Formats: sequence, structure tokens, C-alpha cells
Amino acid sequence: MSELPSHFEEGALVGVLTTQPLDRLLDYKAPEGGCFVGAFVEVPLGPRKVLGVVWGPGRGDFDISKIRSVIRVLDAAPMLDEMRQFLGRAADYTLTPMPAMLRLATRSPGLGDPPSMRKVYRLGQSEPDRMTDARRRVLEVLKEYGGLSFTLGELAETAGVTSSVVKGLVKQGAVSEEESPRDLPYPLLDPELPGKELTGDQAAGAEALAAAIRSGAYGTTLLKGVTGSGKTEVYLEAVAECLRRGRQALVLLPEIALTAEFLKRVEARFGAMPTEWHSGVTMTERRRAWKMVGEGGAQLVVGARSALFLPFRDLGLIVIDEEHDTSYKQEDGVLYNARDMAVLRASIASAQVILASATPSLESWVNAESGKYTRLELKSRFGASELPDMSAIDMRDEELPSSRWVSPSLQAAVRERLEAGEQSLLFLNRRGYAPVTICRACGHQIACDHCDARMVEHRFLKRLVCHQCGETKPMPTVCPSCEAEDKLAPVGPGVERLHEEAAELFPDARIAVLSSDLFGSARALKAKVEEIASGAADIVIGTQLVAKGHNFPLLTLVGVIDADLGLQGSDLRAAERTFQLMRQVAGRAGRAERAGIALLQTFQPEHPVIRAILSGDEEGFWRAEAAERKAAGVPPYGRMAGIVLSSPDAQEAFDVGGALSRADGPLRRIGAQVYGPAPAPIARIRGRHRVRLLVKAEKTAPLQAALAQWVAQIRLPNNLRLSIDIDPQSFY
Ligand code: ADP
Ligand code: ZN
Repeated sequence: MSELPSHFEEGALVGVLTTQPLDRLLDYKAPEGGCFVGAFVEVPLGPRKVLGVVWGPGRGDFDISKIRSVIRVLDAAPMLDEMRQFLGRAADYTLTPMPAMLRLATRSPGLGDPPSMRKVYRLGQSEPDRMTDARRRVLEVLKEYGGLSFTLGELAETAGVTSSVVKGLVKQGAVSEEESPRDLPYPLLDPELPGKELTGDQAAGAEALAAAIRSGAYGTTLLKGVTGSGKTEVYLEAVAECLRRGRQALVLLPEIALTAEFLKRVEARFGAMPTEWHSGVTMTERRRAWKMVGEGGAQLVVGARSALFLPFRDLGLIVIDEEHDTSYKQEDGVLYNARDMAVLRASIASAQVILASATPSLESWVNAESGKYTRLELKSRFGASELPDMSAIDMRDEELPSSRWVSPSLQAAVRERLEAGEQSLLFLNRRGYAPVTICRACGHQIACDHCDARMVEHRFLKRLVCHQCGETKPMPTVCPSCEAEDKLAPVGPGVERLHEEAAELFPDARIAVLSSDLFGSARALKAKVEEIASGAADIVIGTQLVAKGHNFPLLTLVGVIDADLGLQGSDLRAAERTFQLMRQVAGRAGRAERAGIALLQTFQPEHPVIRAILSGDEEGFWRAEAAERKAAGVPPYGRMAGIVLSSPDAQEAFDVGGALSRADGPLRRIGAQVYGPAPAPIARIRGRHRVRLLVKAEKTAPLQAALAQWVAQIRLPNNLRLSIDIDPQSFY
């Protein structure tokens, strides 16, 4: 991997990939001192200076006298051959132009700035003489970010104060001001510190993974085990082996709120904090992370999916925790699935991939069945904890007034927990107060002005919110259609409404609501999660957010308000998603010494998916689901691409869709079929009309090349946008 990059003498022609949306490399002359392939450079483009990477020799098909020189080589480790290959193949796979891939790989401010010193601010030793609101905010921000350093501007902005407030605190010693090199290496992690003593299953798994790492070759392992079985402990041992061998490791988590707990575990295991990479870290830290990953000054990165595009020197291991999680699919801009791209990157870098989950995606399950992935299984929960008993509450037998959602049986179960001093979780995957607001006089339902979607009442915000575009408006007092007064009524439950009901049912209980929109920042959410985990609530009401790996040791009851909710869609993964979600949610209960139960409210307890969830026959469920997909020729047994055309003009979107469907020659040649055009399920978002086409092909068909040829035949009007989603996960 460490072959010497080829070098270009000063004045030699080089081809540069820039971050600008151009469809080719640009020729430049190598600067004074020459440059290496992979060098990050600044080049002139018209009147501007833009970022680029030396991709190879220039093409020389351009008037040599007009060719300009590279302005300068930036102070950043050159992009490795491995990374250039990865970006190229990821671009081919996702049909993304290379400049957009390069933008993904350079998401760091000032990455080419020379090394220098600058002032950074941290929490100081003393208390200020006088506390003001502004001062308190500064100190809170510093505490919240747990020792991370800020620049003056960042700190003032995050705390919402002027920089003089910070300076005042510096004078008093409450905030420390230090000169620091802009980018320091991260503290060393020590893999030789003792890990937890592993159980038989765990030790065997850890050893198999360590052996795979020692092979120095590519491989993917599906690490399957119920929540609490010790998957994290096991993959931390794989990280240890990777570090021992001097290679870098990357752990992807589906959600920032989970990182705090994980960072603590890393610190306990390796004696220092790893590098964080996600939207919650400051720009200063982001730049440092990017640079240090590139220079080898960061051994372990913990982060969100975009960390996959960091310039690792020698990546030896990628862990994808909760690999089935839908947040690994990026749904705007470059449409990529971090799980699949991790496998691609690892195969190029001769690295190992670990996919950890209690409920793997069907794709991964099939790959493990066929032997493409190695399969490791942790069969039991660690220690005394057991998987909760799951049973259904048949809602057809429950006496429940309309506009009430907690059945008498579930109420009784919650009461039992309250008396025992244990926690209950009421799970409902719907944000806000009510999904629909209807006029009782004329039947009008309040919809978004820009989208083909109903607006959701958020009583906490006192507004109606469109979950598609984020548009909000105050709750009207008269019906916008018939102008009747006081006739608007909520229909159906959201978590806020469930909160109201729970507060009435259990007036003495402490109730907490966990829903992504109720927290201003990931940090605030994280703090709330920790508070709940330590027992600050008796009843937790939550959306999907709570299903993602949080640890609530006092929780012994999970009540699913509407287990049928996910089964209604026509999405090909509806069954799989419901199965995963229900098992994940149920896994929140009984994680410590106390056993838990999960109760699923359902109107169709005989539905095959509900039955599979209750019976716990996971393998049976997956086999049945796989057989169905196989029969239908859909992923993972066939290939799919979703095409969305959007335009302010509905007719135009349909016309282009029609033209595409007629010009299907390139697709037919590979045996693929095109379906549509049809109005998208959400036919308008942000004022743009949306039309979908779907392409299906056999698993081995060269789909991307055919798609590229196909769309290239049609000239697209200026305000029409076309996006191609390979292996789509959502079909809205
Ligand atoms: P998973 O990732 O499968 O959900 P974890 O690795 O988080 O499971 O383990 C669940 C809990 O049990 C954690 O608190 C973990 O520290 C603890 N645990 C798991 N295995 C061991 C072990 N061998 N020794 C001590 N504690 C363990
Ligand atoms: Zn909208």
C-alpha cells in the first residue's frame, strides 16, 4: 500500500480533479518544486482559486500557452492511491460525479492552511466573581463539550454571547486561554490495557475477529447478537488488535446521541478518548480530525457515516454498529449507503469490516448465509439479564374510548412497574401531537402549502409543522377552508398527545418524552438520555430515537402503542423494518438484573410479521422474508434503482419521465425493466412536483453503465432535477 507516488517536475502537465461541478479533470502545470500524484492543491479557475487533487498526468489536449500553473501545494498529506480508487469506484457505483465525491472527502475547513499557533479556550480553574446569564452560558457550553477546545469566535457563537464576555472570564481565570498548535495529534490509545474478562462465546468471537485482522486481508464479518450480549465488548477487542498492528480503526454509530456512552467505554478500555467526527463537533476539532487522520495522528475515529470519507493513512478495521439502521443511507446529495461503501473501502484497503446488529438487514443476513460474509453469533445476554418476554395485546378485546391509546392491559402493566419503582417505555413512532388536523365542520385536513403532505400539530411548539420540508405555521383558530370557528380537531396520536394521556392516567409519575424535535442539540438530547438512564423518569415516551442502542438499566416494561403502524406501507422493506424495530425496542427492557417484558398493542395479532416477532423465531422470519424477495426478484436478489424527477412544473416532470420510459433501449439490452413514470407518493415537496421511475434488473446485470447511457439520451430542461438512487431504501 505504501508504494511511492509518482512525482511531476515543475512545469509538467498534471490533471487536477477539483470540487467544482465540471465533468472532467483540468490541466495545469506543476508548481515550483513539482508535486506528487494525490497532492492537495489550490488552482486558478477563472477569477477564483479552488481546491483540487492532482489525479494524474494532464491530457495535453488544450492550448499549452493558455495552461496556468498550480498556485500552491497545500499542507496536507497527499491523497493515497487507495482513497482515489475508493472515490472513483464509489462514484461509479452511486453514479455520482467525481467533484461531488471529492467534496465529501474534503469536508474540513481550512484543510490546506499551514501549521500555526492560535489561541484556544477551555474551562479554567476559578469561579468568576460575579455570575451573569451570559457568563453562565459560556461555562455551560465548555462543560457540555467536555474539555474540547474552542476558538474565541466559536465559543462566543455557541454560547450566544459577545467575545468580550469570554475575554472577561479569561481575566478572572474561569476560562483559560492557551496558545496551541492548530492541529495536535490525539492522545495515544493503549490496546494493552486490560479489557473485560470475556465469556466463552464472546472470547471465541473476539479471537476470530482478531485472527481476521492479523491476516491483513479484506473480509467482512456479521456479528449478530441480541442487545446486551456484549457485541461492543467483542468488537473493541478487534479494535485493540488493529491498533496493536499499528493500523487505524473506524467505528460508525447510527446516532450522535449514542457516542457519549461509547466514548466512555473506549476511554475505559484504551485509556484515552478517540477522535470524534460528526455534526456535533466544532469546526476546529473537525479540521484537526481530518488532518490527523491523514497524518496517522488519530488511531481510532468514532463517528457518523461521513467519517468513511476521511483520508485514513492505513485503515485496518471498520465497525458498523447497528448495521441495519436506516440512517446509514444518505438520502440527499450523494445517495450512498455507508454499509456498502464501508465494504467497498475495506476491500480496496485490505481492511476488515464488522457489521454488528441484533437484527441484521436482510442484505447482510443473505450475504452471511451465502458465505460472502463470515457469521459470528453471541447467543445470550451478558450476566443475569434476559431478553424480555414478548406478547401481544389484542386491541379488538380492549375497552378503549376513541382518542385514547393506552389499553387497560397496558395501563395495568405500567402501574405494576410504578409500584415496583421500575421504568416503563411507551413507544410510538410519531413525532408531534397529532398527525392530522381536521375540520369537524367541512372535513378539510390542514396540508402544507408547498408539499403534498398533511401538517402535523406540535403542541409543544404551538405550531403546525410539515415533516417533509420543515415549514411551520401557527395553529389556525378558524378552518382555512370553510372558516368555521373552533372546529379544528386533532386526529390520531403523536408522542406529545400520548404524554398528555399518560399524565392523566398516572398523575404521580415522572414522565419524559424523547423525540428528536424536542431537543435543540444533540448534546441536549444526550444529556436527557443519561438523566433517564440514571432513573430521573418513571415513564419514558419515545419515538424511534429510543430504539437505537441506548442503555436504560431500570427499564423493565416496553409498551408498543401501535405495532401495526409500520406494516401499512407498500415499501418492500415494511415487514423487515417492523420486525427490526419491534425487536430493537423490546431489547430496551431488562438490560440489567431485572427481567423485562414487552407488550405489543395490535389489531392483527395473527399477522405473520407480528407472529414472527412474538415467537422469537428470527431465522424463520428471515428465511421466509428472503424467499419472498427471491420470488419477486427484488433486493437482495435483484437490483433496483429509483429515479426521481422534480420540477416546479408538473407537466415537464411527466414529459421527461415519459421520454425516459420510451427511450429504454440501453436498459432493455441488459434485460432491465423500467416502471413509471408515476407521481411519487409525496407528489410535491417544497413546491417541486415529483415523478418517480423504478428500474429493476437481475442481480448480475451491469446496471450503472446502462443507467448512465439511458439518462444521457435525454436533454434535461434547466429547472428539472434528476436523481438516481441505486438500491433505494425509501420510496417517498
Ligand atoms: P451489545 O453491544 O451487544 O448491546 P454490550 O457490549 O453493550 O452489548 O454489553 C452490554 C452490557 O454488558 C455492557 O454494559 C457491557 O459492559 C456488559 N458486558 C458485556 N460483556 C461483558 C463481560 N464479559 N464482562 C463484563 N461486562 C460485560
Ligand atoms: Zn412542506
